Amino acid sequence: MKCVQVLGPNDLVIQETEQPKVIDDHDVLVKTKRVGICGSDMHIYHGTNPLATYPRVIGHEVTGEVIEIGPNVTKVRVGDHVVVEPISYCGECYACRKGRPNVCKQLSVFGVHEDGGMRDFFTLHEKQLHVVNSILDWEDAVLAEPMTIGAQSVWRGNVEEGDSVLIQGCGPVGICALKMAKLKGAFVYMTDLDESRLQFAKKNGADVILQANDKNLVNNIMEKTRGEGINVVIDAVCIPQTFELGVRIASPAGTVVCLGFTDIPSNIQQLPITKNELTIVGSRLQTNQFPEVISLLNNRTLQMDEFITQTFKIEEIKEAFDFIEKNPDKVRKALITFE
Ligand SMILES: [Zn+2]
Ligand SMILES: [Zn+2]
Repeated sequence: MKCVQVLGPNDLVIQETEQPKVIDDHDVLVKTKRVGICGSDMHIYHGTNPLATYPRVIGHEVTGEVIEIGPNVTKVRVGDHVVVEPISYCGECYACRKGRPNVCKQLSVFGVHEDGGMRDFFTLHEKQLHVVNSILDWEDAVLAEPMTIGAQSVWRGNVEEGDSVLIQGCGPVGICALKMAKLKGAFVYMTDLDESRLQFAKKNGADVILQANDKNLVNNIMEKTRGEGINVVIDAVCIPQTFELGVRIASPAGTVVCLGFTDIPSNIQQLPITKNELTIVGSRLQTNQFPEVISLLNNRTLQMDEFITQTFKIEEIKEAFDFIEKNPDKVRKALITFE
């Protein structure tokens, strides 16, 4: 079988390897069908993901069909369509005990710290697989993982009905957060530099779209919120300026949600945080978001029209990476298809 392996920074190969076998009683053998390409895959490829280790089979947005199960597997059956929950954790550390295994001390992410799904077959413990309705297209099922990232940011921001939400950035994470925030009943503002991305956000339910580089952005939002500011800011751009803007524009008792990995410091004053008693939270991967996202996909509440913009075969992985880098304006989500 084939797999996409990153040997080290900027060194990617398609390898022929042996098909993995069911060894553990709880192992499940899955035939891969679709794998989404995520920004973090690109970072692993370029050596700019500080958390990744090499060599690595990448891919953590994965869906496929169950081919074989270990003797004690109860959660899935042969023939089931499944999506991968990419985290495994110790279950004992402080974070795990607090119900936040996504930041476990010993966290291992499929496709980051251990080999992932960009290969024809893989095995995983049954607890890391979730069954999806088999009438769903593979193209819809594969969006479960990116949707959980959006769902997590909305959960971390404690978004509730009627809240004003500002999502900075109309890329894939921003759009997934938008979908989840709208399902919670929020009024959503979105910013971006790219007009076509803003229009796509509008089409997907954004109530107000705003040019990120407009000099009057802050005044404009303050006016639109009658001077209150934004209840929940979700920063899906993740540069120092967007974090700074979030703190500045958050309403009293508001929340700012960070998703960034940058180590460049932001220039943040304490005054607005104390005065407005802001909550500033990180949002990483997801905690317990798969069941809700899958049920929303299963019953078609969550529809992601035109979200997938390109598909490539596994042999074309280098072309795919190349295309994504050279055409950021044309790519929302690109997939690798397996047959
Ligand atoms: Zn991802
Ligand atoms: Zn733990």
